[in-house]
Amino acid sequence: MPTDTTASSSAERLAEVRQRIADAARQASRAPEDITLIAVSKTFSAQAITPVLAAGQRHFGENRVQEAREKWPGLKERYPDVVLHLIGPLQTNKVKHAVRLFDVIHTVDRPKLAAELAREMEKRGRQLPVFVQVNTGEEPQKAGVPPRQADAFIKACREEYGLNVVGCMCIPPVDEEPALHFALLRKIAERNGLRQLSMGMSHDFEVAIAFGATHVRVGSAIFGPRKLPAHGE
Ligand SMILES: *Cc1c(COP(=O)(O)O)cnc(C)c1O
Repeated sequence: MPTDTTASSSAERLAEVRQRIADAARQASRAPEDITLIAVSKTFSAQAITPVLAAGQRHFGENRVQEAREKWPGLKERYPDVVLHLIGPLQTNKVKHAVRLFDVIHTVDRPKLAAELAREMEKRGRQLPVFVQVNTGEEPQKAGVPPRQADAFIKACREEYGLNVVGCMCIPPVDEEPALHFALLRKIAERNGLRQLSMGMSHDFEVAIAFGATHVRVGSAIFGPRKLPAHGE
């Protein structure tokens, strides 16, 4: 078999993604450093993640608490400045572990979860920044608060539960123009005085940056295609 000279390493793909983020930022007259790249490492082993850490990447995203508990404590010991983002649905019975391991939670979407997170953060003395996930496409199978209820829910997260809400997060429907969803999320965040927007994945992060994304969640463009379907997909 001929050698595949086009094969690239995860570190090379990381550099390409960083370049594309910088280009998209400039196109939008924004500063590249105002955009945080979250490398989504779900389904990839600690061994596969190590080269990306060695290349200097520090923000990582995982969508399952249990999987993260198997991979990250060891990696965090070696790289103590890692910032770990929970980007998948959170069950209330996993809140304890989530608050211990993660540094940012992107998926707050219901009162019971908000209350449980607030309680656990208080107990641990660990006030994590959180994003409120909005189901912009109102898809019945998808997590997130419906757009119509977003304002009231954000208010409750802040005033009733005392959570440190920093922004909004969305995952647009796969078969729709993502720009419409990014624009809607931005409007919701703005009218609630929230500055951070977690939106944009491998196939649409440049569009998300044009619409104001401050956090892009990029998996396959860095790590390559996932062999196993990730939980929740
Ligand atoms: C898997 C996942 C991503 C990354 O998806 P890619 O298409 O691999 O970039 C981003 N956000 C969430 C919530 C995910 O579950």
